[in-house]
Amino acid sequence: MPIFEYACQSCGKVFEKLQLVGREEQVKCPACASEKVEKKISAPFLPSSVGRPADSASCAAPAKSDGCSSGCASGG
Ligand SMILES: [Zn+2]
Repeated sequence: MPIFEYACQSCGKVFEKLQLVGREEQVKCPACASEKVEKKISAPFLPSSVGRPADSASCAAPAKSDGCSSGCASGG
């Protein structure tokens, strides 16, 4: 189900609302009933179709190299 996240421009409340495809209705803030809400582009789900090699014979050098520097003890 397409659930979009909205942020009220009036009071700043962030809420989620289910929107049916092809039926765009005015979204109101559940807190202050303001119509000045902004749809936030959020993607909680990842795209399923990802380009992947169909035929891979050999892989010599590891192209993957992500650096997690030493010392990952940082509170957030
Ligand atoms: Zn509001």
